[in-house]
Amino acid sequence: MGWGKGRSPFPPTPIPVWYHPSHLRHDVPGHPEQPERIETILRALAAEDGLVSLETAPPASRETLLGVHPAEHLDRMERACREGRPAGPEAWTCKESWPVVLDATGAACAAADRAATGTPSVALARPPGHHSGKDFAMGFCLVNHIAVAAHHRTTKGDRVMIVDIDVHHGNGTEDVFWMRDDVLYVSLHQAPFYPGTGAVTDRGLGDGEGHTVNVPLPHATGHHGWLHVAREIVWPLIDRYGPDLVLVSAGFDGHHADPLASLRLTAETYQRFFHDLVARTPHVAAVLEGGYDLDTLARCSVAMVAGMSGRDGPVDPPVAEGADPWPALSKAIGKVHGAQWGIGAAPPAA
Ligand SMILES: [Zn+2]
Repeated sequence: MGWGKGRSPFPPTPIPVWYHPSHLRHDVPGHPEQPERIETILRALAAEDGLVSLETAPPASRETLLGVHPAEHLDRMERACREGRPAGPEAWTCKESWPVVLDATGAACAAADRAATGTPSVALARPPGHHSGKDFAMGFCLVNHIAVAAHHRTTKGDRVMIVDIDVHHGNGTEDVFWMRDDVLYVSLHQAPFYPGTGAVTDRGLGDGEGHTVNVPLPHATGHHGWLHVAREIVWPLIDRYGPDLVLVSAGFDGHHADPLASLRLTAETYQRFFHDLVARTPHVAAVLEGGYDLDTLARCSVAMVAGMSGRDGPVDPPVAEGADPWPALSKAIGKVHGAQWGIGAAPPAA
C-alpha cells in the first residue's frame, strides 16, 4: 500500500514525533545520556519547515509495562529512581527519573499505534531502552520501550519486526523476545563491542528459534557496507516474515562522529535506510536509542525523518570505509538462517 494514489510510497508530511517535556528531569550531571540530546534534536527538526508535528502521549500504564517486565523489576526500578541510585550496571538514575521512563515508554507505544495505521512515526525516548531485559537494567536503560511497544501491538494481533540499528547489540530486546515468534528481532551492531552479546549463532529458542537475527559488523564497516548488509538481510526478512509493523531501535551512535563507537556511518546512511524502509511499508515507527554527539544526533534525526518522508537529508563529507563485510558475513548468516529465511550464502551441498 502507498500514499498519493499509488504515485509515491511516501506519506505527506508532517511526520508525527512523540516526546514528553518531562525528559528534562532525567538529568544525571556529567552523563553523556543528557537532556540536551532531545533538546538538540527538537531544535534541528523545528528548523525543517513542516517536516514534523510534535505529539505528547500519556505515560505507559503499569499494565502495559507488565506485558514485558515482571512486577518485581518495575518495583525495583521505581525504588532505585526514588533513591536516585543506579538501577543496574551503568543504569544511572536521579530522583525524578521514574515518571520520565514511563513517559518515554508511552511515547513509544503511541508512535507504534500511529504507525500501525500506516503513518511512519517517531518516538524520542530517553533514557534509552534496548539494553533492558525482562528483569534487568543496564547500559543507561531501565525499561525497554520498544519491547513494550512491540508487545503492546502483539496484543492487538500484529506480527511485529524490530530492526535495531543502534551501534550496540540490543541484548535487552533479544532477552524479551528470545522464545517468541510473534516478534522478529534483527540487530545490526558493531562487534566485538559493548555489551558483548549478539553473536550470529544466537538465534532464539523454542518458539523463538530463528526469530532472533544477529548481524555483527566490524569496526569501520561504513555507509556502503552497512547498506549492503541491510539490503541483503533486512529487506528479505520483511518480505518473508511479512510483519504488520516494523519498529526501529534508532540509535545514531554508529555515525562516524559518535564518541563511543567506530562503525563510521554517515547521516546519509540513516536517510537511505529509512527511505528504503518506508518505500516498502509505511507501518514504521522509530524509537530513539543511543547517539551521544549532540550535533550528529540532530543531523541523523533530521536524516531519518527526511528519509521517512522521501526527501533528501543532510550530507556528510565522505569517510574512509573498511572492506565490505558482506562476503564473509553472508556465509555465517547463511549457515544459521539460510534454511529458514533464505538469507546469506547457501551452504555448499553435502
Ligand atoms: Zn548504543
